[in-house]
Amino acid sequence: MKNKLNGVIQPPACLGMLGGGQLGRFFTISAQKMGYSVLVLDPDKKSPAGKIADKHICKTYNDLEALDELKSACKVVTTEFENIPYETLKYLEKDIVVRPGSKAVSIVQNRIREKNFLKDCGCPVGKFIVIDSLESIKNINEQNSIFPAILKTAQFGYDGKGQIHVNNKIELEAAFKDFNNAPCILEEKLDLDLEVSLVLSRSSKGNFEIYTPIENQHVSGILDLSIIPARINSSLKEAATMLAKKISNQLNYIGVMAVEFFISKDILYVNEIAPRPHNSGHFSIDTCTSNQFDQQVLVLAGRELEKSVIKFPIAVMLNLLGDLWFRGNEQKEPKFELIAGEGISLHLYDKDEPRVGRKMGHITILGLKNQSQIDIIEKAEVIRKTLWEN
Ligand code: ADP
Ligand code: MG
Repeated sequence: MKNKLNGVIQPPACLGMLGGGQLGRFFTISAQKMGYSVLVLDPDKKSPAGKIADKHICKTYNDLEALDELKSACKVVTTEFENIPYETLKYLEKDIVVRPGSKAVSIVQNRIREKNFLKDCGCPVGKFIVIDSLESIKNINEQNSIFPAILKTAQFGYDGKGQIHVNNKIELEAAFKDFNNAPCILEEKLDLDLEVSLVLSRSSKGNFEIYTPIENQHVSGILDLSIIPARINSSLKEAATMLAKKISNQLNYIGVMAVEFFISKDILYVNEIAPRPHNSGHFSIDTCTSNQFDQQVLVLAGRELEKSVIKFPIAVMLNLLGDLWFRGNEQKEPKFELIAGEGISLHLYDKDEPRVGRKMGHITILGLKNQSQIDIIEKAEVIRKTLWEN
């Protein structure tokens, strides 16, 4: 296995990207800006990253011919979503450098392995039980109740998908059957004060570049708004940073990683790990000299991380879901011209069609001179209202 890269990959070499969504698209933009070319593998012929890549292989992730083609074009490859089949990463790793590696991805792409890993390395996690059979449900002691709880499939969940809220064992059994008895974890539902994420890059030499903790608000399990910086005290900030570093060190992680945290009754819990840049880290595109995708390119190419200087310390990011395209009873484009202005940065992902719950784009609202965090949050809400009411 060639998991070591001797030397640096210099432009105009070709970098491989597994997945063609918006994260892959931002990666492609960063890589091309630095002079690299990008090969995207994604089965969707209209994928956002595939459309702008130098080469798009429009095949499935387990198509060996496609993987061989990727191997002959690229010395390094990364991924933009954690549900990439583990076997694909293993297959590529035989001949080229895969960052992050299959081992780290296999842990974080499975909630059972991920939670056990976190627990084993001493990270605080909420109460959870592995549910992999009807027997495991029978064994739950209702006295020492975990309810109300959330049943989550161990694999393939994202944006709140693959999750069912349950209040007792009867509902749990029904939910488990709804998931066709697929392996799951049952998590105690925490009373959340706040959700926070931390995006970091870790180079092959073990050096870090870490963005400030981000405060995240979700609606129906999908990220809605990110507030930068998170409104938490410095000891929570420090604790989150220490934990994220520890997790990436333990995983021997090389790449960009996001750690999602819950804060409940002033206690910090690790929720989950994303082995890639994160939706909440999109603020870095407009506010930092080196954004999370630039860092992903640097780490992948075996280069040292760039110190990222913050140009706008206060910002808010508003996600644009496909729902906005269906306001009223018809499908229509949002009137983005109505919200244009200084400090407002619109990013659309060029998805082939809007769908309810689908991430179509985001808006970053920058804190300009004399604007407070509250001003910017209010500005984001005015923008949201304007888009929805017109
Ligand atoms: P994913 O982001 O992969 O869909 P998460 O586990 O992060 O899955 O869940 C999505 C959102 O659902 C979280 O950001 C949080 O708002 C809510 N949620 C998930 N687990 C819990 C929990 N144990 N207690 C309270 N809220 C939760
Ligand atoms: Mg999450």
